[in-house]
Amino acid sequence: MKFIPRVGKSQAWPQAQTTVRLILDKPDHRAALQVAPAPPRQRKTGWGRRFRLPVFLLALSFVLSAQTIQRAEALWKAQDFEGANNEFKALVTANPNNADYRVRWGQLFEERFNPDDAAKLYQEALAINPKNAKAMLGLAGIAATNYDPKAKNFAKQALEADPKLFEAHEMLARLALEDDDHKTADEEADAALAINPNAVDAIAVKASLDLLADKESPWIAKIGNRGKGYETIASFFVINRRYEDGIAYYRKAIAATPDLWSAHSQLGINLMRLAREEEARKELELAYENHYRDKPTVNTLTLMDSYNRFETIRTPTTVIKLNNKEVSLLLPYFQTELDKAMKEYDRKYKTKLNVPVQVEVYPDHEDFAVRTMGMPGLGALGVTFNNVVAMDSPSGRPPGSFHWASTLWHELSHVYVLSITNDRVPRWFTEGLAVHEETAINTDWGDRLSPDVLAAIRDKKLLPVSEIDRGFIHPEFPAQVIVSYYEAGKMCDYISERWGEGKLLDIVHAFAKNVPTVDVIRQQLGIEPEQFDKDFMAMIDKETSKTVAGFKEWSEGVRTLNQLTKDGKFDEVIAKGRAIEGLYPDYVEAGSVYDFVAEACLKKNDKACAMDEWGRYSKIGGRDPDTMKKYAKLLEEAGKTKEAAAALERLNYVYPLDAELHQRLGGLLLTTGDAPGAVREFKAVIAMKPIDAADAHYNLARAFKAGGQNDQAREEAFLALEAAPNFKPAQKLLLEVSGEGGK
Ligand SMILES: [Zn+2]
Repeated sequence: MKFIPRVGKSQAWPQAQTTVRLILDKPDHRAALQVAPAPPRQRKTGWGRRFRLPVFLLALSFVLSAQTIQRAEALWKAQDFEGANNEFKALVTANPNNADYRVRWGQLFEERFNPDDAAKLYQEALAINPKNAKAMLGLAGIAATNYDPKAKNFAKQALEADPKLFEAHEMLARLALEDDDHKTADEEADAALAINPNAVDAIAVKASLDLLADKESPWIAKIGNRGKGYETIASFFVINRRYEDGIAYYRKAIAATPDLWSAHSQLGINLMRLAREEEARKELELAYENHYRDKPTVNTLTLMDSYNRFETIRTPTTVIKLNNKEVSLLLPYFQTELDKAMKEYDRKYKTKLNVPVQVEVYPDHEDFAVRTMGMPGLGALGVTFNNVVAMDSPSGRPPGSFHWASTLWHELSHVYVLSITNDRVPRWFTEGLAVHEETAINTDWGDRLSPDVLAAIRDKKLLPVSEIDRGFIHPEFPAQVIVSYYEAGKMCDYISERWGEGKLLDIVHAFAKNVPTVDVIRQQLGIEPEQFDKDFMAMIDKETSKTVAGFKEWSEGVRTLNQLTKDGKFDEVIAKGRAIEGLYPDYVEAGSVYDFVAEACLKKNDKACAMDEWGRYSKIGGRDPDTMKKYAKLLEEAGKTKEAAAALERLNYVYPLDAELHQRLGGLLLTTGDAPGAVREFKAVIAMKPIDAADAHYNLARAFKAGGQNDQAREEAFLALEAAPNFKPAQKLLLEVSGEGGK
């Protein structure tokens, strides 16, 4: 039972969670729990590698006499990073007890994209002098880059060691603003400015506070020609998903400081997010050629090189990008679902998008991760940047683990909400609404109540509505991001139930005016946020208390079922399974109670019993392809053709890369008289390049014939006979649809 040990187990911080925050996404329950991020993709040839701690023993002999900190600094300034590194190496060897040299050397590593070695040097400096404030600040900076909550503590310790270290106040200001804590951000920026009135990051934080609130800022003028200040403002726009504003400020940064390569790289990455590929490439290559080669820059360039493997399909309202290898199979499903979702959202959100929606589908999850973050290892399934959606292909995920249609509807909800609010919506609400939409369209879509979420409810770790954004941005325990998605989704469910579905759209419009969450709750729901939390938690308790209280009994029961099954005591499996099933009905993953019971029913040759069990499994959202196919087979044998087709149709939204699925579904739909459905399915079989091409074309011919499309039927019959000239049924069908017999 692989999920049980995960509950409450402490885990290292997965990189996935630390990077997920910049964007709107659909998280992956499973990936987000994995500890290790995937290894970074390195550009294969000619693009260099990251800067490492080398062992320059040879160089030592001649630099030992000459090395000075001034020389190291001069080489660094002249961008001779290897030279500067050699100087530092020699300096530290000659002065092993000088903590400051190590700190400065660490800063070189940090700047040159090697935070691991930088952190080592900061720690060595602290071992020499535990009160070295700059070493603490260095560690704070590295933690902050990873959105690790330890950053705050390091910065505070740095200030205790050196109260005049204004950079530590600047860092605390930035961290607070990342958390949307405007009051603290303002105070810390003021504290930095009291020490150094020219502190550019503090000025940029003050300016960002105004700009994010859509106010003119007197602080902009104080940045002057320091590109770094505009770059900081741009980064806050991006964190708040205001990509157009972010792009505008990266441009200002470059105008002020043309050789600020980090800004060129970020400009490129954000242009790329909005699918402006040509200019994105120009900026990224410029950064790269000027030796700014951090992983996002290199990885994004690598990905762009691979774009010739994709095909772009346009309609007046949509752009779909699919990999060459799967375009013919997946396009009909994606196009249909995208059109359907847009039609529904046009109606529901009472608006029409003024630009086409672009959906990019990546079979290689690492490509998807790079596309979205410039970094691999992202624990998400789909992300949205304004009108651009990037997502995993169902082929990139284990069968049954990924409901691609849920993800598509989720992301598309973001596209609409971002458009209506002009990107001004707090993260919790747009995520909550997107999660709400997944099950609003179909109750068996969306994610089920997971053991992580149950544990969080049991331990009272859900956040009040006024603070829930924090759970997405600086999670305090590994599952908190997933828990926050669940909670935000439930909040929207609750609002819909109590105030009506239309209230959700009212709230979208309220956020468009850049009103803070607490005020929106008061104005739109007519209650205090604290009251909302109280009422909401009462609803959660009511819904989950049975499962929370019964979780232990249920998990022990599942172990018993496992043993009883091994012992062949099938009557007991059925009785025990039915007794504990209701304790945690949402559990439909591998080793579910439904599976134990249904399989036991089959052992007793009681097919009705198995059908009944898997019926519940399917209804509540179970979606394992093998299980669903077995269930459909039972239904078909029992003469329930329509139900059997419906069971298999659910799998098209989960794992359509299955020729057997399309073959069987096509046959069933032909029986039920759904000719267009049968055509769709038999076309999918052909798109998967079957070994028996004659049979596939013959089936498609039959489907066309059933729909009265005799010309197409004739064409397919020809193709069947081309593959197998003596194929009698095809010959017969050709006669039927040709000449007098057909028209
Ligand atoms: Zn999302």
